[in-house]
Amino acid sequence: MVDFSLSDEERQIRDTVRSFIAKEVMPLEDEVLRNERAGRPGLAPDVIKELQRKARKAGFWGINTPEEYGGLDAGAVMSAILAIETGRTFVPFAFGGSADNILYAGTEEQKRRYLIPTIEGERRSCFAITEPGAGSDARNITTRAVKDASGDWVVNGEKTFITNGNEADFVMVFAVVPDAGVTCFLVDRDMGWKSEPIPTMGEWGPASLVFDDVRVPHDNVLGEVGKGFELAMQWIRNGRFMIPARAIGSAERLLQMAIDYANLRKSMGHLIGEYQAIQWQIADSQVEIEATKWLTLYAAWRVQNGLDARHASSIAKLNGAEMAGRVVDRVLQIHGGMGYTKELPIERWYRELRLLRIYEGTDEIQRRTIARNLLKGHVRLGGIGE
Ligand SMILES: Cc1cc2nc3c(=O)[nH]c(=O)nc-3n(C[C@H](O)[C@H](O)[C@H](O)COP(=O)(O)OP(=O)(O)OC[C@H]3O[C@@H](n4cnc5c(N)ncnc54)[C@H](O)[C@@H]3O)c2cc1C
Repeated sequence: MVDFSLSDEERQIRDTVRSFIAKEVMPLEDEVLRNERAGRPGLAPDVIKELQRKARKAGFWGINTPEEYGGLDAGAVMSAILAIETGRTFVPFAFGGSADNILYAGTEEQKRRYLIPTIEGERRSCFAITEPGAGSDARNITTRAVKDASGDWVVNGEKTFITNGNEADFVMVFAVVPDAGVTCFLVDRDMGWKSEPIPTMGEWGPASLVFDDVRVPHDNVLGEVGKGFELAMQWIRNGRFMIPARAIGSAERLLQMAIDYANLRKSMGHLIGEYQAIQWQIADSQVEIEATKWLTLYAAWRVQNGLDARHASSIAKLNGAEMAGRVVDRVLQIHGGMGYTKELPIERWYRELRLLRIYEGTDEIQRRTIARNLLKGHVRLGGIGE
């Protein structure tokens, strides 16, 4: 049976988060804009920590973290629904209490040193696979790790566009071990890697990382030597549906701004909302948002039920990234000259949402995946659900 309803408990969780975002987070938007426009971070780290503490008190901590680590373990579908809610604001807020999924593959000692402190917010991680010469072509990375006589690994190479790379105190870095293949290493900053921020059109910047003869103990190999590429794909794929989920919240918030403006702004003696040219932009936007919503929740449902979610996630991510771009552009257009100013946050959303078509697999790479699955017969047309 197909059932689109939420349980009472799920609805209550969603509504509590919606009201938390509206009451505690959205009021900070003006401050975020002021700070960013003065060249400062949107919010100071202690303000974000305080918000996370308040959210924890309200029961929202570790949304997708297993209960044995103090999390809510809400599952992929609920995580997507909550990402829609947090996506309604551009305030750089995320619930605390979570860690990169691949850290759960660590040894007990690695969990104690990396996983648990990350969940507790005491340590900050970053994930580094992209290199100046290898982005979409991630199999082509050239960072190398070689074991020396002492049994340590020596890592050399450069990574680029690494989110949190300038703030993190450890990195999950992927390097080629000759004759074995790509391997993931947990490398503390004080082992010697350096970072440099990369300015972008967005309000936060990734960083480039340099590894110059960085020595890493063998105990810091995550998973098995030569099995790192699978871990990298697991990191990327597991949360891919979260990108379109956030985009839905952002697009709905923006569309509401356009609706409000269309009901207020007059031109040539009429409200602009009376003109079909504006109505169609509003209607098309909602149709596209709804399409992303159901594609995203379907991908999340597959993850939650342990089904292969790769194809569904690529469809949802491609659709959501392109949808967000079209919606923010229409919303800007409906606001006319005001849409282009810094008095409104639309131009800020515009710059932020543009990234969605690039990271965690570009539009072109999603299309390539979808087409290859169909052409090779891995996926057949005509199914509904499973
Ligand atoms: C803000 C930001 C944050 C990021 N965070 C991280 C991070 O935390 N960790 C990390 O490891 N990486 C991160 N990335 C890197 C990101 O994943 C890559 O930028 C992305 O995968 C694209 O790689 P590229 O930039 O090298 O582009 P390229 O791979 O060089 O692609 C250039 C163009 O060619 C197209 N193209 C490439 N190959 C094909 C093909 N086979 N068929 C058709 N078209 C193709 C691409 O779609 C694109 O349009 C981040 C990037 C940005 C901008």
